[in-house]
Amino acid sequence: MKNEITDKKQVENNSESLRIDRRDFIVTSAMAAVGVGAAGLLGPFSAQAAETNSTKSLGQGPYPTEGMAVYSATEPLKPFKFKRRALGPKDVAIKLHYCGICHSDIHHGHEDWRKETFPLVPGHELAGIVAAIGSSVSKFKVGDHVGVGCMVNSCRHCAMCDIGMEQYCENGAVFTYGAKDRDGTMTQGGYSTFNVVDEDFIIRVPDSIDLAEAGPMMCAGITVYSPLRHWSVGPGKKVGIVGLGGLGHMGVKIATAMGAEVTVITTSQSKVADARKFGAKEVIVNPDGVDLSKYKRSLDFILDTAPYRHKLDKLFPLLKQDATFCMVGAGKVSEPYELGPFALLPFRNSYAGSSIGGIRETQELVDFCALHKIRPEISIISMNEISDAWDKVVEKKARYRYVINMKA
Ligand code: NAP
Ligand code: ZN
Ligand code: ZN
Repeated sequence: MKNEITDKKQVENNSESLRIDRRDFIVTSAMAAVGVGAAGLLGPFSAQAAETNSTKSLGQGPYPTEGMAVYSATEPLKPFKFKRRALGPKDVAIKLHYCGICHSDIHHGHEDWRKETFPLVPGHELAGIVAAIGSSVSKFKVGDHVGVGCMVNSCRHCAMCDIGMEQYCENGAVFTYGAKDRDGTMTQGGYSTFNVVDEDFIIRVPDSIDLAEAGPMMCAGITVYSPLRHWSVGPGKKVGIVGLGGLGHMGVKIATAMGAEVTVITTSQSKVADARKFGAKEVIVNPDGVDLSKYKRSLDFILDTAPYRHKLDKLFPLLKQDATFCMVGAGKVSEPYELGPFALLPFRNSYAGSSIGGIRETQELVDFCALHKIRPEISIISMNEISDAWDKVVEKKARYRYVINMKA
């Protein structure tokens, strides 16, 4: 479901410098569309050209790229020009069309988890079209629709990499932004026009999935799919999803498609109807303030996607004997969660966590979404609306994922 945002007032309210840069982006896009790119380099990267040109006509890079970057934890994002590396043998150059906004981008931007290296271009829900390939790329060709999620590299030889769980790489997966790559450079993410990624970390997007809707599958989708699969969610199982945001709404749709019965636990009365539309059978509003005794020991699994510290003591009693509570939301490190032993031991419950999913599993999730016609609910914005969208996400106003259109 798409909701094209055309909030002209918001664009006008932006600073003069941002407006100038917005015009720059428009000019660049327009030039690219007619094949007259800046410095003669951007032109061939238009979607049409990417789909029809041969690899050689694009060159092997390095590729000038325009992005939106965080320069400090307290300022709005600003334009940033940089270069993507020249193609290595297994590299794929991707003209980015869309990138979803994940709450993790905001945590990084606000330094909720650690000190960051600025300027930082966030974004790990990338979707685009292959523009060029390296000499030994075998999985992709120019014109293919592809996505990239949270990882762009890993060691590839540890026990975790061997079984396709690169996110748990024993030598540290390389994340899509804010990470030191194995060649020593810092990775920059998907709030940008172009990327170069090793083919082993690229996901194929089936024709039936719109590129704008593919991005949020790369992080939000896989982050809920992986634990739902791991804890064997399916027919006959009752699942609680805490937080109906980007991850949560995908969780409701995916768990429902897996055959489970879903209970949404939300802090937003205004989301009740949507929760039911996405497949939830039950909706609990404001768990802190209501009597939950009728739900006691009713759930086989709880997946918690809420992004800041919240009370857990009322949620654990909803778990059946031996059931697991899995946290995927990740609050500020300065505000740890409280969990007493009596939340866990009376019914032998487990408190677990889960991080995104492996590359193979992400492909499986994308194919699962294609098969079951699952799509994220998205609102498309322009590059200059990112900071405003971040504020709305924190205020729980997103319905349910903002996706940046690089050409807007
Ligand atoms: P989101 O779109 O903002 O959704 C989070 C939802 O949590 C909100 O819509 C809201 O739903 C609920 N919520 C409860 N308390 C809140 C509060 N104080 N402030 C804001 N929302 C609150 O975020 P997201 O992109 O789904 O990401 C959710 C969390 O998962 C983030 O911490 C993110 O960093 C993390 N994450 C983890 C992984 C992983 O690998 N483990 C991957 C991606 C993201 P209601 O209105 O229904 O209450
Ligand atoms: Zn994410
Ligand atoms: Zn590894």
